[in-house]
Amino acid sequence: AKMLEGKVAIITGGASGIGAATAKLFVQHGAKVIIADVQDELGQFHCKTLGTTNIHYVHCDVTSDSDVKNVVEFAVSKYGKLDIMYNNAGISGDSNRSITTSDNEGFKNVFGVNVYGAFLGAKHAARVMIPAKRGVILFTSSVASLLGGETTHAYAVSKHAVVGLMKNLCVELGEHGIRVNCVCPGGIPTPMLNNALKMNKKETQEVLCKVAVLKGTVLEAEDIAKAAVYLCSDEAKFVSGVNFVLDGGYSIT
Ligand code: NAD
Repeated sequence: AKMLEGKVAIITGGASGIGAATAKLFVQHGAKVIIADVQDELGQFHCKTLGTTNIHYVHCDVTSDSDVKNVVEFAVSKYGKLDIMYNNAGISGDSNRSITTSDNEGFKNVFGVNVYGAFLGAKHAARVMIPAKRGVILFTSSVASLLGGETTHAYAVSKHAVVGLMKNLCVELGEHGIRVNCVCPGGIPTPMLNNALKMNKKETQEVLCKVAVLKGTVLEAEDIAKAAVYLCSDEAKFVSGVNFVLDGGYSIT
């Protein structure tokens, strides 16, 4: 059954990885999807290959207030509403894990996209959702939101902050009928992680398989997309404030 029939969704970072997989699955579930990203060619390519008028690409740097405002306005002017805001865009920053030499600008860049970008997405979505008295805001956190030494400082702290933002908004926006959650993925060999590890997809997957708790299968972007469909659907009508972990048990070891 189609779980998102008639819903209007914006997916930031929808040109690649988890966001692209989610855009595709949302459309298959009957949603109208707007991909908001900075990779214009790739974003437009996905729209073309899906071969439907229910998907659009809008250039949007999530660190720009006017860009985020503009993509929300696009949704509202085209469809008259915004049901789902999926703040998924994220970067890993450099791979320097030593606090003594960690790059200052790099820290600000990671915070800019992962935290400030998510904040702007939530803000402009909420301005539309509050009067509508409904809506779903979803974020992509990470197992780095649960662990200490797994990634760089900037990335780990940014993902803890995303969970903090989700919880804060869950409480604030609940009275307006707006649900707020995170999907919390384990490692997936997307361009972000491959670049961070300076490995190709196959090598990244080998590293992930070595440390995995659950053997015999691997985590894919499509698995996160399936969770996003559920969390954004009316099936999850009382689910709010959740950091939904999909990591095959990795984070509890
Ligand atoms: P990805 O690199 O495939 O996709 C990220 C997308 O975000 C890209 O299309 C990129 O262009 C876009 N983006 C980056 N900066 C942007 C900006 N300023 N404005 C708009 N778009 C921007 O990586 P992914 O793994 O699919 O990452 C998606 C989310 O998942 C991120 O928040 C990431 O932190 C999170 N995550 C990834 C993993 C993993 O192992 N891959 C694990 C946990 C969480």
